[in-house]
Order: sequence, then structure tokens, then C-alpha cells
Amino acid sequence: MSDVAVKERESAKTGSGAFDYDAIGIGAGFAGLALIHYLREKGVSVRVFDKASDVGGTWTWNRYPGAATDSESYYYCLAFSKDILEQWSWSQRYAGWEETQRYLRFVADKCEMWPDIQLNTEIVAANYDDELGGWRVTTGEGETYTCKYFISAMGMISEPMIPRLKGMDQFKGPLFHSARWPQGLEYAGKRVAIIGSGATTVQMLPVVAQTAGSVTVFQRTPNYILPAMQKPMTAEWEREIKSNYDAVVAKCRNHVFGMAFDSPVGRNAMDTDPDERERIFEENWTGSFRWVFETFDDLLVSPEANRLAGDFIVKKMRERVNDPAIADILSPSFDDYPLFAKRPPLDHGYFEAFNRNNVQLVDIGKREPIVEIDETGVRTTAGHYEFDIIVLATGFKAYTGALEAFPIRGRTGQTLAEKWMTVSESIMGVVVADFPNMFMITGPQAPFANLPTSIEQNVKWISRCIEKMEREGLDVFEPRREAEVEWTAHTADIHRQTLMAEGHKVNSWMMGANRDDKPPRELIYFGGANAYYDRLDQSADEGFPELEFETRKTLSV
Ligand SMILES: Cc1cc2nc3c(=O)[nH]c(=O)nc-3n(C[C@H](O)[C@H](O)[C@H](O)COP(=O)(O)OP(=O)(O)OC[C@H]3O[C@@H](n4cnc5c(N)ncnc54)[C@H](O)[C@@H]3O)c2cc1C
Repeated sequence: MSDVAVKERESAKTGSGAFDYDAIGIGAGFAGLALIHYLREKGVSVRVFDKASDVGGTWTWNRYPGAATDSESYYYCLAFSKDILEQWSWSQRYAGWEETQRYLRFVADKCEMWPDIQLNTEIVAANYDDELGGWRVTTGEGETYTCKYFISAMGMISEPMIPRLKGMDQFKGPLFHSARWPQGLEYAGKRVAIIGSGATTVQMLPVVAQTAGSVTVFQRTPNYILPAMQKPMTAEWEREIKSNYDAVVAKCRNHVFGMAFDSPVGRNAMDTDPDERERIFEENWTGSFRWVFETFDDLLVSPEANRLAGDFIVKKMRERVNDPAIADILSPSFDDYPLFAKRPPLDHGYFEAFNRNNVQLVDIGKREPIVEIDETGVRTTAGHYEFDIIVLATGFKAYTGALEAFPIRGRTGQTLAEKWMTVSESIMGVVVADFPNMFMITGPQAPFANLPTSIEQNVKWISRCIEKMEREGLDVFEPRREAEVEWTAHTADIHRQTLMAEGHKVNSWMMGANRDDKPPRELIYFGGANAYYDRLDQSADEGFPELEFETRKTLSV
């Protein structure tokens, strides 16, 4: 029996009242583990289900060659335990998937979370039961459990986006989404197609190209690609981080993207002399997204500054590609879309890969769109390409995908998927009107940020809400519709004022514009993660004015 199986425990019901569990969470990644920690602190029983065979969430599923974090690992972690931050050592600046997953197992071990986790269990339905004043949650095996609080920890990019390409079922070789990379797949010497050219492909290509016979990347949209500049975690760097962890955590909490960056820096690109601006851009070209935040404060605000920053990045990209024709295809421009309207990838040798003679780039955006997949490969409007393996690196149904993948029915019987047909409404990305006693961790209209930071802020709000309800003998909360209308309008208003609103032009997942089943919409709160965290705190301090609480005498036995 595997380690995990041994650690898993039979589903023992631990609810304190009329329910099997006080809370049920779905998803055993960062969010599920944070949930267990914070709810336990409040004395609330929780059972976390995951369809995966291990904890880790994103890092259990995304096992493609080169998969790694783009956040620097020392702040891509849970901050609730100083001991764990102290005891864990990262090996390098950005950890690979194995190391990140190992870290999450370490958290589960140290906090003895395994008894509250049930793996290999898919949730296929969740229904609010008005009479019960709680939820009935059904597994793929047909078991139904009741809980007072139903909590999604299903992740904001966990549901793969599978494109509808004609003939996909005809291909004779392995064809799979990058988040479902088959374990042990032998690709050495093989002809590999990668469809899509976002962050996944930017990580995957340099590794796959080393041993594959050939790799062909089908690119729809060129990216602004920042350098990762991977480096080992030296003993000195680790000492410095560990002796300043409180400051690191505070930096994340107070940053617009939840990252441990020094910003704002108090200067604007547009107010800086061109030579000095170039010097600052060069001096800060040290890897990670920091460059965008630690150079100037107006790069994501002023179109002119954004154009300058984009031009600088493209100049750096082109320097590393030998063939100018390839460099042209790889280079975005402000006229196509601004920097950050699409999530910029981090590079670990992507450009050098195109200098190899076994790597080819096909522009399916402007030159030769894909017509179909057939038994032996990919047909575009310009020709036919033969392959042994096809990888769909086509991203995810962001923010709402997992919540729409099975029926979650609220008080009215409407599912979330039905409710979100055209607008993905919520209150702060954590609760939804007509879905009583249901919480989401990083749901739609939450910020896009360093996710562990956002996850912990969400879970703190959730656990404070549950604490209040248990302390005051409250049975049901109903999110107020007027608060949902207000948050949705506020999110849309801010979105319209940012350069991110241009994302629909280039199918950005940050607007759900990569999906072919729903129109683009404002999916993300861009008013600053720090301002959003302040708003969560204020809401909890004021007793959750967005929620209407109900006590049902018959329930509180
Ligand atoms: C390749 C990649 C790299 C990334 N790098 C970064 C980064 O550098 N920085 C950053 O901030 N974020 C990054 N992200 C985003 C990443 O998803 C989050 O950082 C974080 O891992 C989210 O954790 P989570 O627990 O909320 O969700 P997830 O890790 O997505 O976990 C959700 C879990 O829910 C489970 N689940 C879903 N539906 C069901 C169901 N119906 N029944 C049972 N279980 C279900 C899934 O199996 C999954 O295990 C990256 C994402 C990817 C794909």
C-alpha cells in the first residue's frame, strides 16, 4: 500500500451537530491545507476531499517536464506556521513541481492533517438543502455527506481548457493536456507537437527539446517573456530570508500582487529621463516579475510607460534568438496588446531552444491557423505536420472552471454554471448570492496575485465568519444580493480602467477569453490585492455586513 493510502483514513464523520461534518472542503492543494489549519484553530471539524491521489493540487497534476513556480518559492508558501517556514528549505529560487508538492506533503505531515483528507474521491454534485440548513455533497462513488459549510478549495486554474479542434480523436499517438502529462511518457527521439505557447510551453520547451527528436510549437499569441534567472538557494540567502520572514510575509500582504516585492518605488517611467530610465530597466533585469514592480510605478497604469516596458522586454527577447524571422513571430507589440493584459511567462531557456535545429515555430495566430488534427498529425491552412505525440498546452478555464464542472445548486436550484453564463458574479470572490453557507477560496472576482497569500487571506475571512456563526448560534448565512451587485460593478469599473481590459483581444485567460463556451468577462479584481485584503479584514471586523444571518430554532439542538 502506498504511503498516501496508509495515511488516508476511512471517512469518519466528525460533525458536531446534525451534519456529518461541520465543513466539507473540496481540493487538497494550498487552499485545502490552509482550510484544515484555520478551521481546526476555531474548533470546527472539516473533511477535505480531492479526486487526486495525493495532496498538492496544481503540483500533483502539472507534472510536465520543466513544470515549476513563477513566484519565487520563499514566498510561494503558507505563512501560518513560523516553525514550518523555518524547518523547510527550498533548493532554488523557483522550485520544480516535485519540490513544491514535497513541501505541501511536509505541511500535511507536520500539522497532522492526513486524518482530515480523503483522496481519490471526486465530488460530482453539491446541493443546498433548505430544510437541513446545509449542503448535501455527493461523491463519484455515490456516497452523500452532509455539512453545514460547503467550501470550494478547487483552485483558480485547475480545470483544463481543451480546445475544440476538429479530428482530435483521430490522432493515433498520445494526445493530452499538459496538466495530465502521462507518467513515464517516453518522448526521447519522438516528434512532439505543443499546441499553445503560454507559461506552460515556455517552461516545457527547453526541457523537452533536449531529448525529443523534434518539437514544433504552435503559437497563437506572442508573449512578453521575462527572464526567470533561476539560481540555487545558498546558505547565506536562506539565512537572510529566515531571519526576516515576518517582513517577507508582511511584504506579500501589502503588495498589489501579493508578492514579496519592494514596491511602490516612488518613481514613474514617464517622469524619468530616457537614459536614466534605460539604466533602471537594465539594473533591475535580474529575473522574476519583480522587474515590472521594482522599476517604476506606472508600467501597468500608463499606456506610454507600458509601451516602453514592453519594447524593452522585446528588445531583450530578440537578442537571444538567432533567426530574425523566428524572433518576429515571437515578438508581441503594444499595438497588439499591452504588457500584463496576458499573464507574462518566465523564461528558463525558451529563446535558446528556438536556436536548436530540432525546434520549429508555427504561427497559427496570423499566418496558418490549425484546420484539423488527423491520424498522423496537425493540418494547418499552409500544410501538414507529422507527429508522434501532441501536447495541448492550452491553459485552463480560469477562476470558474472547477466550480462549473459539476452541478453546485444553491437555494433556488440554479447551478453556479447557469448563474455565471454571462457574468461571474460574487462578493469578493468568496461568496455568491443564493448559495447560502457556501464559500469559495479565490473564486471569480478575487485578485490575481501570489496565490498562497490570497488563499490565506480568504481562509482567514472564512474561518472568522464560521467562528462568529458558531459563537452566536447562527445557522445560515445568505450573501446579500445588493452586496454582490456592488462588488461586481466595482470589479468591472476598475477592470475597465486598467490595461488588463485589453486581454480579450488576445484570448487572455485572465478574462476567460480563451474559452469557447462563454463570452469574456471581468473575472479578476484588479484594484490591488493589498486593497482587497484590507476590504476582507474590514468586512470581518464589521461583522460581515455582506451577509444576512439566520437562526433556526429547530436546527440548533
Ligand atoms: C503550472 C502552474 C504554475 C503555477 N505557478 C504559480 C506561481 O508561480 N505562483 C502562483 O501564485 N500561482 C501559480 N499557479 C497557480 C496555482 O494554481 C496556485 O498557486 C495554487 O496552487 C492554487 O492552489 P489551490 O489549493 O487553490 O488549488 P489547486 O492547487 O488547483 O488544487 C485544487 C484541487 O481541487 C481538486 N478538485 C477540483 N475539482 C474537484 C472535484 N470535483 N472533486 C474533487 N477534487 C476536486 C483538484 O484535484 C485539485 O487537486 C500555477 C499554476 C500552474 C498550473
